[in-house]
Amino acid sequence: MVVEIDDKKCKLCGCYSAPACVDKCPDNALQLRDKKIIVTEFLCEDCNECGMACPDKAIKIKKVTF
Ligand code: SF4
Ligand code: SF4
Repeated sequence: MVVEIDDKKCKLCGCYSAPACVDKCPDNALQLRDKKIIVTEFLCEDCNECGMACPDKAIKIKKVTF
């Protein structure tokens, strides 16, 4: 599983340089790039710290099937 950011819901935490999800992620799996949150999937451990911190409820953990 890996996190999925809903770009329609995400307001980039008011465009702070370190949005809540980026700030909370213990694995540096999230980055703000070109006004979007980018997920580095292999770093994500599905802890949902980012989802709990997101004020816009824009983060979900999705299932990945191989
Ligand atoms: S689920 Fe955890 S490891 Fe994955 S992006 Fe969110 S805070 Fe980072
Ligand atoms: S915490 Fe939520 S609203 Fe803030 S940048 Fe991350 S996904 Fe967007």
